[in-house]
Amino acid sequence: MVHPSSSKENLSLTVAKFGGTSVADFPAMLRCAHIIKNDSSNRLVVVSASAGVTNYLVRLSQANLLLEEQADIIEKIQAIQLNITQHLAKDVEQALNTEIKGLLEELATHALKQSQQHSVKQGDAILSFGEQLSSRIFAQVLQSIDVNGAYFNVQQVMKTNSLYGKAVVDIEQLSLACTEILAPKLAQQVLVTQGFIGQDGLGETTTLGRGGSDYSAALLAEALHAGNLSVWTDVVGIFTTDPRITDQARAIKEISFGEAAEMATFGAKILHPATLIPAMRQNIPVFVGSSKEPEKGGTQIKKSVASNPTYRSIALRREQTLVTVKSPAMLHASGFLAQVFGILAKHELSVDLITTSEISVALTFDNPSGSTQALITSAVVEELEQLCEVTVEHGLSLVAVIGNGLDCAKGIGQRIFQTINDTSVRLICHGASANNLCFLVNEQDANSVVEKLHRELFV
Ligand code: ADP
Ligand code: ASP
Ligand code: MG
Repeated sequence: MVHPSSSKENLSLTVAKFGGTSVADFPAMLRCAHIIKNDSSNRLVVVSASAGVTNYLVRLSQANLLLEEQADIIEKIQAIQLNITQHLAKDVEQALNTEIKGLLEELATHALKQSQQHSVKQGDAILSFGEQLSSRIFAQVLQSIDVNGAYFNVQQVMKTNSLYGKAVVDIEQLSLACTEILAPKLAQQVLVTQGFIGQDGLGETTTLGRGGSDYSAALLAEALHAGNLSVWTDVVGIFTTDPRITDQARAIKEISFGEAAEMATFGAKILHPATLIPAMRQNIPVFVGSSKEPEKGGTQIKKSVASNPTYRSIALRREQTLVTVKSPAMLHASGFLAQVFGILAKHELSVDLITTSEISVALTFDNPSGSTQALITSAVVEELEQLCEVTVEHGLSLVAVIGNGLDCAKGIGQRIFQTINDTSVRLICHGASANNLCFLVNEQDANSVVEKLHRELFV
């Protein structure tokens, strides 16, 4: 892999990412602008769309939307953004509003085309508008408090393949482009750029998947050899579990890359699952804190930490699909699983958990919210049915207990399952990783399972 040679300047550079709620309205943006102003190492700012905007854009990218519905959604997005710009100096507001309205006209054209002929490619173009708008506005908010900040189009450096909706970034190209284009500009001023979006070789807009701004920020931090990555969000760090599930959740001061990556993978929405991969590759410490209460500190994620407890946190991932394939032919047979996985690979389905018995195999699949396609399509089922009996179950949640040495610690099974012995557990995965023990429960039991376990393990 090609990386720019690191300079002292880069090591003192922090990439700061602000999520949707942090750039939701003017007071929120202003707080973030002060965070940037108060620490001169914050040079590159990566923003998400203002809260709610991407959800509107997802609706706008659907097929067969009526003209009035399109206009209504665009008006709602405009209201969110103009509600911010009205707090800026009149001349700045006017210029910015002209730019915003221009962008929204472009958006309307895409929406119209999408309603006439739906494509995933067009969908990505539509989804990109949230970040395009918020980054332009945030640059002006920075200037309003005398920070020399400017808008930067991330598509100049974030080159991807053409897998629309889930594009893969070309890391070598990003590294080179950051050295040649972005780093020299950062030496002059603070730049505000977009998370979540990229551009493919055809010059078309791509997106990296919902919640992808964290990942964009981490990739940029890696490519710039940044000294730090700060992820500013709406909670004061990473908690022992989602604080929306139980108010007993508490913030973790320090956590290892590995533990935090497990949490993100298993559904802790606080970080996009891929965020820690670039940070780990370059050993870049990651800070997670609240842009509302920056003075409260947050969580430091780094290579090694002082304590490695058996139980670190509990993560929850909803909307899981469980597929059970059953065939007497599997008994003493070789090659059956290879055939099953061949079919799944052909349909680009990525398997999560696996358990097996003599003649059947249970497999789970994540169903990332925001995905519009049915995960296990009838085509997949039909192909699998050529080989075996197939059962597909929905309405399940994956609970992951995350920690250290869980593969061989004594008594953990008893402690965990005794605590939830009034709940039916559909599948258990343990032993493959020292860092997690996972199981599936019915969706309606998920919150109470997490709450009970949290009380047992952390309170
Ligand atoms: P942003 O828009 O800033 O990217 P997100 O909504 O994507 O913010 O992520 C922050 C949310 O993640 C929190 O409000 C919280 O409800 C949720 N969350 C889930 N698990 C955890 C956890 N273990 N610790 C903290 N927050 C969590
Ligand atoms: N705006 C995008 C989303 O809502 C990306 C992000 O916020 O990280 O999914
Ligand atoms: Mg997020």
